[in-house]
Amino acid sequence: MARPAQRLAANAPGPFYVDASCIDCGTCWQFDPQHFAPHGEASHVVRQPEGDGELRQALLALQACPVAAIGTTPALRARTPADGFPALITRHPAGDVYYCGWASRRSFGASSWLIVRPGGNVLVDVPRWSAPLARRISALGGLHTLVLTHRDDVADHDRWARAFGCGRWIHAADADAAPGAEHLLEGRDPLVLDADLQLIPTPGHTAGSLVVLLGQCHAVLFSGDHLWWNPAQQVVVASERYCWWNWAEQLRSVERLLDLDVGWLLPGHGHSHAFAPGAWRGALEQTLAWARR
Ligand code: SF4
Repeated sequence: MARPAQRLAANAPGPFYVDASCIDCGTCWQFDPQHFAPHGEASHVVRQPEGDGELRQALLALQACPVAAIGTTPALRARTPADGFPALITRHPAGDVYYCGWASRRSFGASSWLIVRPGGNVLVDVPRWSAPLARRISALGGLHTLVLTHRDDVADHDRWARAFGCGRWIHAADADAAPGAEHLLEGRDPLVLDADLQLIPTPGHTAGSLVVLLGQCHAVLFSGDHLWWNPAQQVVVASERYCWWNWAEQLRSVERLLDLDVGWLLPGHGHSHAFAPGAWRGALEQTLAWARR
C-alpha cells in the first residue's frame, strides 16, 4: 500500500500520488498517460484526474500497479470499478483483444492480453493472480490457451493454468522458466495454431522469445519484449540495451516480421500502437536502419 509519507516530490498536488516504492515498470503511464508519466527512475502523477471518466482511468492504473506504489484517499479508492479489467483494446475480426491490468512484480509489470475468440480464448503472458479478474475472464468464456512470449513474463502462469485447465505454450529455449508448460515450440518456423493464430519464434531478447499473431489482414501482433512503440519519436523500438541474449539474432528476427500486415502492436513493456493500413513495413524498415546505422 502506498504511503503518503513516501510521496514523491514530483507528483502534481492532489489526492493521487506515486510513492518511493515505485519500480519504474511503466504500467501506469502506458495505461493512463493523461495522469502518469516517467520522471527519472520512477513515475509520478503529472495531472490529477478530473471528472468520472478520468477518475476511473486513474483508479484502474492504481489497481494495475504491480507494487501498490500509487496512492489516493480511501474515499476515492472505494470507487475503483469492479469491472475495469480486462479492458477492451480493439475488436478484430479474428477476436476481441483486452488488456488485463493486474500487473505482476514477478514479470516487472509486463502487460498481459486476453483474446476472446470463437476458437477458444487465449491469454498472452500473465497478470498477477486476481480472483476478480479470473471471474471476469470466466464470464468472457474462460481460457483455452496460455502463451508465454518469453522467460521474463511468466508471472503466475501455473496459477492461471490450474484455475482454467488451459494448456501453456512456451518456446523450448525458455522452457525452464515454466517447467510445467504442456506445449513447447521448437526451432524457428512459425506454428499455426489455427487459421487466425500463429506463434512466431523471434529469438534475440531471449533465446526463446516468440510473438503471437492474431489474424492475417491488419493483424494484431503481441510482441512480448521483442518490439514496442515509442510515441515521442514515433518509431517501433527494438532495444539493444534490453537485449538479454543475442542482438544480431534479434535484428534477424525483426526482419522476419517485415512481410506481415500488422495493424496493432501490443508489447509486454512499452507503448502499444495502432498502425495505418500499410504502415507496418516502413516502420520496421526504419527500426532496422536505425539499429544498423
Ligand atoms: S505502475 Fe507502479 S511501479 Fe509501475 S511505474 Fe507506475 S507507479 Fe511505478
